Amino acid sequence: MTTASWIDEFPTRIAALDAAHLRRRRRAVVPTEGAHLLVDGTPMLAFCSNDYLGLAAHPALAEAACAGTREFGVGSGGSPLVSGHSLANAELEDDLARFVQLPRALYFYAGFATNVGIIPALVGAGDALFSDELNHACLIDGARLSRATVHRYPHANLAALDALLAASPARRKLVITDAIFSMDGDVADLRALLALCERHDALLLIDDAHGFGVLGPEGRGTLAEAGLTGAGASSRVLYMATLSKAAGAAGAFVAGPEALIEWLVQKTRSYIFATAAPALLARALQASLRVIATEGWRREHLTQRITQLRDGLAPLLQGTHWQLGDSRTAVQALVIGANDEALAAMDGLRARGLWVPAIRPPTVPESTARLRIALSAAHTEADVAQLLGALAELAPRAGKAA
Ligand SMILES: *Cc1c(COP(=O)(O)O)cnc(C)c1O
Repeated sequence: MTTASWIDEFPTRIAALDAAHLRRRRRAVVPTEGAHLLVDGTPMLAFCSNDYLGLAAHPALAEAACAGTREFGVGSGGSPLVSGHSLANAELEDDLARFVQLPRALYFYAGFATNVGIIPALVGAGDALFSDELNHACLIDGARLSRATVHRYPHANLAALDALLAASPARRKLVITDAIFSMDGDVADLRALLALCERHDALLLIDDAHGFGVLGPEGRGTLAEAGLTGAGASSRVLYMATLSKAAGAAGAFVAGPEALIEWLVQKTRSYIFATAAPALLARALQASLRVIATEGWRREHLTQRITQLRDGLAPLLQGTHWQLGDSRTAVQALVIGANDEALAAMDGLRARGLWVPAIRPPTVPESTARLRIALSAAHTEADVAQLLGALAELAPRAGKAA
């Protein structure tokens, strides 16, 4: 008899996930109209898409992708440092830099790969990293890969960050933060973070996955909203954002000072040793930037839906233990508390044709299981009214214990 191989343990390990209600299932999705989807063949109204401006199905993006395919083909064929850097990708980088009003931009095939790659290119063993405890997984993984000493600071606690920066003997210090936190929707105080970085000679890397296209004048992002682009740009800020959310396509970019971007081109392993993003996506994204800037009504419509949801939920939640997070962005967290109660709420919504994911620990802190409601310019007033009606049926009654 040989001892049992660990390779035979996967079925039991999956069963353990099942038993703990932690097994994730993928659903096959077909977009139909607006925020409506066919999910495994069943019609659903989705409040879980990051397509915040409703651009994923925009005809101008689709047409630009088709024209890009006719001109460049489908695949890019190589690393950007060899033959993969198409003229379309080069032009998109110029457009991105101009759009976010920073000196230079570098276009990547994915946001996750961007952060996992650029952090180790910037700092290494002996250097120090300072990371908000609620940062996105790819910032955390990039920090680990870098081998720098990682200091996690309590969420948005600038006094704690100040103290950690002051105590660090490292010469190279890098502060990394989400601009809008993905599970709460709150906005980081970028000006205060930059002031700390100036005081302690640190570099600031901002991940604006959820703010690019949504916040700031013409959707130029959270850094632009804070007045830290154009004439207000700082030489110690790197601005990263994905192009897979509000921009409606796929990919990401990092923008900032010329020398820093050039360094990233030279040293980012996830950029150098990967195939460049296809030109058809770059063409779609050039179209997306034009739509983001010119169709300002999409941001106004989104803002109206955010207000509608928050105003509609306030009376429903009064006197209950359900709490709406403090957010002015498209990400609205309805914190319920217990895992099973959040799951029951998700199931109740699903039974009513509404798709709102329940987010549980360890993705969020213990006892803060929640419904993460993602709003979009693709939602109509009637869509949000339907969600409010369903939540009115499912929310606990005021005064009644859970
Ligand atoms: C979605 C997300 C990413 C990853 O971007 P992709 O383009 O989907 O790989 C990175 N950072 C944050 C904060 C995100 O929410």
